[in-house]
Amino acid sequence: MLGNQKRQDDTQFYFVGGGIGNLTAAAYLLRDCGFEGKNIHIIEALPVAGGSNDAAGNAEHGYVQRGERMLNWQTYENLWDIYSSIPSLNKPGMSVTDEIHSFSVENPCYARARFLDETGEIMPCDSYGLSPAELKQLIALWKAEESDLDDVTIADWFDEDFFKTIFWHSYRATFAFQPWSSVMEFRRYTLRFFHLIIRLTNCRGVTLTPYNQYGSLILPVMKVLEDAGVDFVYDTAVTDMDFADGDGITVTGLHTLCRGKEGYIAIRKQDKVVATLGCMTDSAKFGSLDTPAGFDASAYPMSAQLWKNIAGKKEGLGNPDKFFGKPEESAWETFSCTFHGTTFMDWMEKYTHNKTGEGLSSTFVESPWYMEIRDPKVPFCKGQTDDTTFLWMCAFNSGAKGGFVQKSEYDCTGREILEEILCSLPMDEETRQKCRDEVASAIPCSMPWIDAQFQPRALGDRPAVVPEGSTNLGFTGQFCEIPEDVVFTEEYSVRSGRMAVYQLLGMKKDVAPVKPIRFDVRVIAAAAAAYLK
Ligand SMILES: Cc1cc2nc3c(=O)[nH]c(=O)nc-3n(C[C@H](O)[C@H](O)[C@H](O)COP(=O)(O)OP(=O)(O)OC[C@H]3O[C@@H](n4cnc5c(N)ncnc54)[C@H](O)[C@@H]3O)c2cc1C
Repeated sequence: MLGNQKRQDDTQFYFVGGGIGNLTAAAYLLRDCGFEGKNIHIIEALPVAGGSNDAAGNAEHGYVQRGERMLNWQTYENLWDIYSSIPSLNKPGMSVTDEIHSFSVENPCYARARFLDETGEIMPCDSYGLSPAELKQLIALWKAEESDLDDVTIADWFDEDFFKTIFWHSYRATFAFQPWSSVMEFRRYTLRFFHLIIRLTNCRGVTLTPYNQYGSLILPVMKVLEDAGVDFVYDTAVTDMDFADGDGITVTGLHTLCRGKEGYIAIRKQDKVVATLGCMTDSAKFGSLDTPAGFDASAYPMSAQLWKNIAGKKEGLGNPDKFFGKPEESAWETFSCTFHGTTFMDWMEKYTHNKTGEGLSSTFVESPWYMEIRDPKVPFCKGQTDDTTFLWMCAFNSGAKGGFVQKSEYDCTGREILEEILCSLPMDEETRQKCRDEVASAIPCSMPWIDAQFQPRALGDRPAVVPEGSTNLGFTGQFCEIPEDVVFTEEYSVRSGRMAVYQLLGMKKDVAPVKPIRFDVRVIAAAAAAYLK
């Protein structure tokens, strides 16, 4: 992993946040930039690294994770690049990239029950159902310039019937778009993932990690960084930055807060700071079997507050209020349920004709909560036994009253959320009761800012990875601007991290470009057939 050429200076790199963007950026410093671990510092507000890629628990008490991810082999250019240098923890001699690729080849996805209706029946989805008028609106969107799309929402662009099409359900269910999301971002998605249109309704070709992403992506990169002696500082939030007087952007100090105690890190001219700009899982709240997660967006989230503080001091650092101003639009909830038994998965296998894990996900498009359930292959968590099964759910309309429990999901206990799922499926009562009896844990998690990166934006609302005039400050994550690429992805964070370290060090190295897959004539022909079907 470590590069051969060591740097002779003592430049220190300070990363604010320990998510995948900064962890992989640190790995790039080791691999490509001659850095030693002791000169890299990762400051994280939480007691663990990994950011949104979390997972915890055990077979006895159950597992919990806020997020669950689909990756894409044809794109995710920089993610596959850095993980090809990171050894797998499970397959000796293999890189993480090779491990994930071979797992996906051996365990291909094919959803036979991608969309379910209000009675839980499997919906036909062999056509995207776009009318000629809607296709015209889509083509007009592709022809538009981003500068024409400032603050425009998807609902502003398309007519009402568009939101009843399988095309819309495919985009909402797969990527978490809302009608009020940015149409600028939606446009980027339809172009970046143009090749996926032939399989959005069956999830064929989705690249999955063997374990949850904390186990498969975070732990391996952490091992490399820890072995190299990278300095991790936990439980410490960076609350503000000081800048040198005058024009330009030069950070001179970081204000920190560790368990109520204020601190300060002086930044010298030659040192670099790379800050995660906003975090989608900030202010997440967990419930339990008998406690609702609730919903609390009363305070500006810690990660966006840092952004707001520095944007108030220097020009060109964007506009966090655009993304972190409407929690009622950006919030939704996820749900982690562990069973000591296989009744739920056995029933799903019979009903969907998919083996556990193979179908990937089923979305109840007519459920008031717009629920999507996933039942990953066993084991998905380290130490998971064969008879411990895991169900994960996300609901993109969590504020609505459930169809059965008649409450907002935020007000529901884990037990009640499971009830909503069980009653939404055409199960007999005896099976439902067995599922209830087998529950080991049921943990809701509300996230006020989970869709913040999709909020309508104008050009200039997101700063560049290295803003103009910056001598030592760069940004990573979902709220900086990277032309052509799409947010709510691991790739965006990894790409931003790689760009930040190369640019701040003035290296003449390129990051892997966004692949022009949509210009491949075979892709165009297949996509045209899928759109017109
Ligand atoms: C439910 C869900 C589903 C998802 N599905 C997919 C998917 O299918 N495919 C996909 O590619 N991606 C998916 N993602 C997105 C992906 O997980 C994120 O894009 C990625 O994890 C972001 O990484 P990051 O390093 O930029 O930030 P994060 O993972 O958010 O980490 C940022 C870290 O920085 C810390 N931090 C922030 N500010 C400060 C500060 N001021 N001081 C100290 N610490 C700070 C935070 O505490 C956090 O730990 C999903 C995410 C979720 C939650």
